[in-house]
Amino acid sequence: MIGAGDKIRVFYKDKIFEGILMSQEKPDFLDIKLSSGYNVGLKKKSITKTELLKKKSELKVPPEKNVVKKNLPTMSILHTGGTIASKVDYSTGAVIAQFTEGELLSMFPEIKNLANINSRLIRNMQSEMMRFSHYNLLAKAIAEEAKKGVDGVILTHGTDTMHYTAAALSFALENLTIPVILVGSQRSSDRGSTDAAMNLLAAVQFITNTDFAGVAMCMHENNDDKNCLILPGCKSRKMHTSRRDAFRPINTTAIARIDVESKKITLISEYDKKDKNKKISLKLFDEKLKVGLIKAHVNMFASEFLAYKDFDGLVVEIMGIGHIPTMKVDEFTSENEKILNAINTLSKKVVVAAAPQTIYGRVDMDVYTPGKQLLKAGVIGNHTDMTPETAFIKLAWLLSNHKNEARKLFGKNLRGEISERSEKGAYLV
Ligand code: ASP
Repeated sequence: MIGAGDKIRVFYKDKIFEGILMSQEKPDFLDIKLSSGYNVGLKKKSITKTELLKKKSELKVPPEKNVVKKNLPTMSILHTGGTIASKVDYSTGAVIAQFTEGELLSMFPEIKNLANINSRLIRNMQSEMMRFSHYNLLAKAIAEEAKKGVDGVILTHGTDTMHYTAAALSFALENLTIPVILVGSQRSSDRGSTDAAMNLLAAVQFITNTDFAGVAMCMHENNDDKNCLILPGCKSRKMHTSRRDAFRPINTTAIARIDVESKKITLISEYDKKDKNKKISLKLFDEKLKVGLIKAHVNMFASEFLAYKDFDGLVVEIMGIGHIPTMKVDEFTSENEKILNAINTLSKKVVVAAAPQTIYGRVDMDVYTPGKQLLKAGVIGNHTDMTPETAFIKLAWLLSNHKNEARKLFGKNLRGEISERSEKGAYLV
């Protein structure tokens, strides 16, 4: 019996294809990965014969040989795992992070024609498992690559927390002089429908053809396989559980659009450029720091805030333009007064910051009474338009590196995380 992962020969119309049978998503098609690394989907109706060449268990991936081509740029790909580094475990049907870096590179052969690639496996994990220690590990690895003089770094990463890592690296890598592009995929790399190859290719094209320096992400713009967007590291977010265009810029626009096939790059917004006079410096996270992220909601209890009394910082996703249930308005709402007392007590010890749970827009705690109560209690973040995730990372980074000035610096734009003006065209793009 032929199964996914086996090497097969397929007689299709007047052609013969040899490759690895992929996990099957479309009932009428047979997806195979050719030895060139490309995937083909063959209409089952037009297949005249299929032969088994080798069972999956007998196949071994040969290690990649690195031949340096002098006319091409040099890039380092650091792998951290996630769906982009995953394949379907054919015995369970689950997606697991298990590719080696050699296997990963051999899956995207087209990249090797565009750049000299050094590939390093940093971790092979799902990104939801990450901790501040991983950000430090990655920042150090990127700084090492930058010192070697590479033209750019690509970080393959799980998508669930890619926006947290992008923000963390934006802060940790001060005076970054090269591009660091995070790339993920919503479909594992062994599927015919994977978005991995295109996202990677677009990242390589962007690094090769622009003078961008800084941290950004590269993911699909739409659900089709035409364009990718370069998204700002501190102002983007995963906005969909499964779509390939899950990542959107928030309160801003993308940096660039890449039409992968025509290689056309359209610059959309201004960006920091490579500058040889700058020297990268590492500003790492305090790995023992405890920072929380909580969402204000109806029927809240004071104890939800008091649970953070031993933390160093707390980001509260406030409701609307700047509110938490803090007022007794009738016989049902006396708990709300306790909430205000809890926030007053908490913010004497813990740095409490606000970020909008609406995701889009700017916090303004001057508008309504509950907002004014929060300001009086010492809650910071007024007039900022950071995503809650960026606010969380920024607060942790400030408490790690600028503890005494954290309250003041939180509201200052340090890495492009706060827009000066709210642009009309930056909503739902
Ligand atoms: N759970 C995975 C991760 O974030 C999902 C993905 O990579 O898309 O690591």
